[in-house]
Amino acid sequence: MTRLIVLLILVVGGVSASMQTPRRIVIAAGTLLDGRGHITRDTRIVVEGGTIVAIDATASPVDYDLGRMTLMPGWIDTHVHMNWHFDANGKSVSGGEPADEAALATADDAWATLQGGFTTVQSVGAMVDRSVRDHINRGLLPGPRILTSLRQIQDRSGDPAALRALVRQTKADGADVIKLFATTGLGAGGNQSMSTEQIQATCGEATAVGLRSVVHAIGDAGARAAVEAGCTAIEHGTFVTDATLDLMVRRGTFFDPNLLVLHNYLDNRTGYTFTADALATIEKGIAPTLDVLRRARARRVKIVFGTDAVAGAHGRNAEEFVYRVRDGGERPMDALVSAASIAADSLQLGDHIGTVAPGFDADLVAVAGDPLTDITAVRRVVFVMKGGKVMRH
Ligand SMILES: [Zn+2]
Repeated sequence: MTRLIVLLILVVGGVSASMQTPRRIVIAAGTLLDGRGHITRDTRIVVEGGTIVAIDATASPVDYDLGRMTLMPGWIDTHVHMNWHFDANGKSVSGGEPADEAALATADDAWATLQGGFTTVQSVGAMVDRSVRDHINRGLLPGPRILTSLRQIQDRSGDPAALRALVRQTKADGADVIKLFATTGLGAGGNQSMSTEQIQATCGEATAVGLRSVVHAIGDAGARAAVEAGCTAIEHGTFVTDATLDLMVRRGTFFDPNLLVLHNYLDNRTGYTFTADALATIEKGIAPTLDVLRRARARRVKIVFGTDAVAGAHGRNAEEFVYRVRDGGERPMDALVSAASIAADSLQLGDHIGTVAPGFDADLVAVAGDPLTDITAVRRVVFVMKGGKVMRH
């Protein structure tokens, strides 16, 4: 009996102590990039209860010694398709499969993405994202924070009144963002497909119900109509003119060019059903994407970090950094900040993710080596923390 009472006191006491003081975790970093362009050497990050509480070089004891690593905010990918995957025959599937396969494949992709250093993604998007997102949020599945559009809106989705109703329905269904197609795809030339009235109705209603709107726009006319309609971000933007980029600066529109998707289609061509002509078009899309990235950077457009990750690309999202720096001539710091504080701002989450500072969520990634001098260091992820929980070490 006495022994039982002692045991009860120990158990109850232990529980209440852990509730009062969340476990304190100290991470030593050889190099810390704060996600806003600042570098600190040989410091320590103190995490309590999922939040960064201090940056203090004297904090101890050290729980995770990353003294030879570069630590930074968990990366953010603002454009993925979390449900696209290869089936058992190695062929790309993006819907129409049995519901159990769709859910498990989406969960697989989420896990791969998190292990690749990405703690937040925006999926643009499919209905299956919702249950995977919610299971991750409930702590039942390991994965990045997922924001999803649940569906994609396009010219055939209805007249302006129907589009406004569809935006409200999408919000009621639980979407975090609205995704619309203002133009055709790269293969079809990227001409404006939704009318200007349709684009205004969709982005206008999204704003009215408190949602952001991200717009697939290959050609300039559709992109310009979207910027003028007050949409949040332009995806791809392959042939956007300097005049439209200047308008994006004035309107505060975010820009999300995507290189990985093009390389991924070429690298994994056997998993897709592209014709030789389609593959040639994809290959020809790389140079103008690099060109618009350079022009947007020179004009100080707010550039975020999106990959358009589909089957074959999940978990390799960081290759986008390599394409941008190696092929696009971006400064490594610019590319890294775009996947941190700028991407967070574009998601309206900039006050709690995308920066390593006291008060921010403890979402962290560390790589072996120095990505500022060798961008391929982003391939060597050695540590991932999300919300104060170590997900890879
Ligand atoms: Zn996409």
